[in-house]
Amino acid sequence: MAHGEADSSDPAGDGRARNLWLEEALEGEEDAPALEGDAHADICIVGGGFTGLWTALRLKEHDPSLDVVLIEADVCGGGPSGRNGGLVLSWWAKIQALEQLCGTEEALRLARASAAGVADIGAFCAKHGIAADFRHEGWLWTATSPAQIGAWNDSITRLEELGEEPFVTLEPEEVVRRASSPAHLAGVFE
Ligand SMILES: Cc1cc2nc3c(=O)[nH]c(=O)nc-3n(C[C@H](O)[C@H](O)[C@H](O)COP(=O)(O)OP(=O)(O)OC[C@H]3O[C@@H](n4cnc5c(N)ncnc54)[C@H](O)[C@@H]3O)c2cc1C
Repeated sequence: MAHGEADSSDPAGDGRARNLWLEEALEGEEDAPALEGDAHADICIVGGGFTGLWTALRLKEHDPSLDVVLIEADVCGGGPSGRNGGLVLSWWAKIQALEQLCGTEEALRLARASAAGVADIGAFCAKHGIAADFRHEGWLWTATSPAQIGAWNDSITRLEELGEEPFVTLEPEEVVRRASSPAHLAGVFE
């Protein structure tokens, strides 16, 4: 490619190729105009990934009169938000790490909010007709080697102490059936 020629797979010219999801989503779309000069707003959000975009939406829901400006250096979703695995998980499995980081009360608040967020994302997609193929069907936490069996026990015990039971223990045959693979030896389901 000649110097200065635009490369559609590397539009920012920084060596980061566009991933398949983003290429599909952006096909035929014009880039938003770059910010020129000064802009004034009640709130300026820097970064159009999930965090920035959700924050902008929530702010506008909370107070539609707010003037919110979102600045993105590349395209919205150009970072990890547009190139992740698409698994929408709660933080119940992380309860002990969360407790260590921020205490029991905050850990519970965060885990509950993350679980509610899974449903919120589905409701948001349905409300706005977003073709994300969202499926709220739970996830399997499984062992594929004997050493991994029961890796979830401490978390489940701690959750029970806290009055929460998001996981169901499955029989090994049921884990194999749901995972459609005999590689899974045991597991729990949220
Ligand atoms: C390969 C991969 C797989 C993953 N799989 C999953 C998964 O299955 N499930 C899951 O829940 N999470 C997954 N994650 C994590 C998840 O994608 C991230 O936690 C999430 O996208 C972070 O969103 P964010 O908005 O905080 O940050 P980002 O998506 O990084 O967004 C930040 C944005 O800010 C912009 N920006 C940065 N600096 C500036 C600046 N100075 N001026 C203007 N703009 C700026 C960037 O260009 C970028 O668009 C995965 C991540 C990766 C990398």
